[in-house]
Amino acid sequence: MGRLICLSNRIPMGPNPSGGLVVAVGDALTSRDGLWIGTSGEINDTPEDQFRPVEGGAFQRLCFDLTPEEQANYYDGYANSVLWPLFHGRTDLMDIRAEFLSTYKAVNRRLARMLADVITPEDRIWVHDFHLLPLAYDLRQMGIQNRIGFFLHTPFPTPLAMQALPNGSEICQWLAHYDLIGLQAERDARNCITAMVEIGGASELAGGFIHLAPRQSRIAAFPIAIDAGEFSDLAAREFDKLPSGIVKPERRLMIGVDRLDYTKGVPQRFRAFGEFLARHEEWHRHVSLLQISPPTREGVEAYDDIREETEHLSGQINGRYADISWAPIRFINRPIPRETLAGLYRAADVGLVTPLMDGMNLVAKEFIAAQNPEDPGVLMLSQFAGAAEQMPEALIVNPHDHEQMATTMLTALAMPRGERRERYSALMTTLRKKDVHWWSRGYLTALG
Ligand code: UDP
Repeated sequence: MGRLICLSNRIPMGPNPSGGLVVAVGDALTSRDGLWIGTSGEINDTPEDQFRPVEGGAFQRLCFDLTPEEQANYYDGYANSVLWPLFHGRTDLMDIRAEFLSTYKAVNRRLARMLADVITPEDRIWVHDFHLLPLAYDLRQMGIQNRIGFFLHTPFPTPLAMQALPNGSEICQWLAHYDLIGLQAERDARNCITAMVEIGGASELAGGFIHLAPRQSRIAAFPIAIDAGEFSDLAAREFDKLPSGIVKPERRLMIGVDRLDYTKGVPQRFRAFGEFLARHEEWHRHVSLLQISPPTREGVEAYDDIREETEHLSGQINGRYADISWAPIRFINRPIPRETLAGLYRAADVGLVTPLMDGMNLVAKEFIAAQNPEDPGVLMLSQFAGAAEQMPEALIVNPHDHEQMATTMLTALAMPRGERRERYSALMTTLRKKDVHWWSRGYLTALG
């Protein structure tokens, strides 16, 4: 039996890597004589034309370096300044440049050549995310006939948004070389099928299959997940280690955790909280919002304004409402370890997960898994997070509607314990059943 070979833009480095994708993919790799390949994170003027091994860990890892030009045009450029905004419905932020696309294609071709040297015909190949869309096409050009699957961690754009991309049909042609295209949510699977038919010229077959000569591909949703049982135990342990003062009997805690990305809706969330405070003086001093937002993609122009906007809004709200013993918003612009977050989620009364668009959003799942079953907190979840399809028992909100969000904040803070427990228990049942092992097993079974 062949190996499972996973590819993603970055591979986790270090002897014992952690993080969402490591849990999700590592599990499958460890039990299937697996190999994980991706960039090292190092920039090198003259990178070698073959992979080098990464020491340690439970499964084999191979990495390669990018040149400064590749980093700028493939990663910051085509991936993060064209595909990321497009896939999140922000066509207005796309930065279309010929050198971005040509370098993106060149990096994928280089990766395909290096990969061809290490695979055997029985290996199954699992490609992750929008950085590597053309990889199957490049491998097929070299005569490689292995089963190749793709999983997109972001949303898939609507066909109308796809039309804004000058090479939209080329993307569909690339995708048609995969045997299986996995998406986060049903909405994404539908968008993908429609784009493949309307823009790529494929014909739709029954059962989520499409045909674009010479191949039939299956398109389906495989919502990514967490190890809910493990995260729940972690949260219980970490909660006990939190510094005193985080949990105050007279003060409720709302928490938001998002990379400082324009897709995450942090300014909209702050405006809604400002509206809530304006309406409810009785809650002043009795609730605060802890927003943890590590910086992200600082080399990309579209991210220049988001920090200033969020700092300005939190400053304005604090300036208006704070008193000597209370500030409504605590805004942390640094990464916090996932273990600490687990304890903080458990300490919080309300989780605010209100992205404008998101593939899945694992924070929503982590927040629920972290709760104390006897006295759980309430999740407010955007209808535009992929997670909303699986978590209907959360308080579903429209992040653009700050008045509805302010009303829902009150509902969440005032929710009786009985209702909180009912909602938590329904959410947790799904999280335990459809956990990360269910996700990778389901995908790999479909890949065959
Ligand atoms: N996270 C973290 N420290 C931080 C902020 C986030 O460890 O300071 C973790 C968080 O717990 C979650 C992941 O990063 O596991 C974010 O995943 P999500 O799907 O919510 O969003 P993404 O960042 O992938 O868009």
